[in-house]
This record gives sequence, C-alpha cells and structure tokens, in this order.
Amino acid sequence: MHKQAKIAIIGGGVAGSTAALYFGGLGLDVTLVDPRPKPGGSYLYDTCIPSKSYLAQTKLLIETQKAQTMGIYFQKPEIDLTQINSWKDKIQCEITDNLLNLCATHGVQLIQGKAFFESSDTIRLKDSELSKLKYKYAVIATGALPIMFHGNPFDQHSKVMSPTEALNITNVPEKLLVVGGGCAGVEIGSIYAALGSTVDLAEENRSIRLAW
Ligand SMILES: Cc1cc2nc3c(=O)[nH]c(=O)nc-3n(C[C@H](O)[C@H](O)[C@H](O)COP(=O)(O)OP(=O)(O)OC[C@H]3O[C@@H](n4cnc5c(N)ncnc54)[C@H](O)[C@@H]3O)c2cc1C
Repeated sequence: MHKQAKIAIIGGGVAGSTAALYFGGLGLDVTLVDPRPKPGGSYLYDTCIPSKSYLAQTKLLIETQKAQTMGIYFQKPEIDLTQINSWKDKIQCEITDNLLNLCATHGVQLIQGKAFFESSDTIRLKDSELSKLKYKYAVIATGALPIMFHGNPFDQHSKVMSPTEALNITNVPEKLLVVGGGCAGVEIGSIYAALGSTVDLAEENRSIRLAW
C-alpha cells in the first residue's frame, strides 16, 4: 500500500520528533517514520532518559551515605535491579506516551518501519504495514551509532558495552573501565560507581578513578 506526504521525516528521535512537531504545528502534511511503535529514538529509549533515571536512583544511594556525616545512619541499602529497571521503563513509557500524544495533537502521522530512499520522490519501507511513501520534502534525522571498539562487538553479556547496553543494567561488575570522559562516560561511570563498581575512566592522556 502506498501513502503520500508533503514532508517525510525519517527517524523519530529528538531531532526528527522536534521537526515533525514543528511542521505539524504549522499545519503541514507531515509523516514521521521510525522503526519503533512510539517515537523517542535513542535519546528516550537508550541513552539520555535511561541515564537520567539511573542517576536519580543512584543519587538517593549517595545521599544515604552522605547522611552519615550529618549523624543520620541508614542500613546498607539492598538493590533490586529488576525493580530499578522497571522504574526506568515506566519513566520512558510515560515520556514516549506524552510524545505520542503530542504527535497526535500536532497532526503528525506516524509510520512504523525502516525507510530507504528509492528515488527523489519515493521512500521504500521495510518492516512496515505500508510498502512505499511518496514525499515532496524529506528530513533525514537517523541519529548516530556507536563505533565498534577495536573490533569487539557490543553485547550486554560480553565485556564490551556501548552506552545502550550499559544503560540497561543487568549486573554490576566489580570493575569497570569507561573509555571516554564526555558527559556520557561520566554519567555511566557515576551510576556504576554508586552501585558499587570500581570505575576507572580513561580520557585522552589521563585516567581517573570515579568515587562518590
Ligand atoms: C549517557 C548519555 C547521556 C546523554 N544525555 C543527554 C542529555 O542530557 N541531553 C542531550 O541533549 N543529549 C544527551 N545525550 C545525547 C543524545 O542521546 C543524542 O544527542 C540524541 O539521541 C540524538 O538524537 P537524534 O534524534 O539525532 O538521534 P536518535 O535519538 O538516535 O534517533 C534517530 C532515530 O532514527 C531511527 N532510524 C535510523 N535509521 C532509520 C531509517 N532508515 N528509517 C527510519 N528510522 C530510522 C532510529 O531508530 C532512531 O529512532 C546523551 C547520550 C548518552 C549516551
């Protein structure tokens, strides 16, 4: 089945969703294509929001430790990773639901699927109910993927994780090396340090141990 759109936006992350809401708010015919059933992209599902949820949780852990200096003592907290993850999933779900509602109120049409340019006016769709989308203008907002590190594939169960795997915590390693001291590396390292890992953070020409 074919569909027509004046503006086709490929990728439903913060970039694509923002563009879609902007064009939709202007009353234009806009269609957003993303493989997930709800827009949000890696920002909402894999990186920023999972990281901020874990940071909110681990901040509590740190505060209970710091309270000792004020003469307030808590017992060593028990950490239930299943519950920690379901709270994070709930936050994600609330925000992606809100984004879905915003798309509806702004007249943004959503197509679940993966887009490929076929010609200057046609997008071919994979894993979608539709096969093609005709467009007049297209916005490419497909984001970025982490680069494989020295040929080691990312895998939750292997030793090498990208932020996506690291921000779906299934175990807390005794030792963790974080390569890259940008905001992502510092956030991820801080979360694992608060959960009990010994975290070393390597940044060009130096390395530091993260400790709370
Ligand atoms: C730990 C961590 C913390 C972060 N914290 C922050 C923060 O606090 N603030 C901040 O601004 N940024 C933060 N970032 C960065 C942020 O995650 C990215 O900048 C943001 O996700 C980029 O958004 P985007 O829309 O460009 O791409 P993405 O979010 O990657 O979205 C791209 C979308 O395009 C889809 N797509 C790809 N190919 C196709 C195709 N062929 N057809 C259809 N769809 C396709 C993908 O599935 C995805 O849904 C953080 C990152 C990390 C790792």
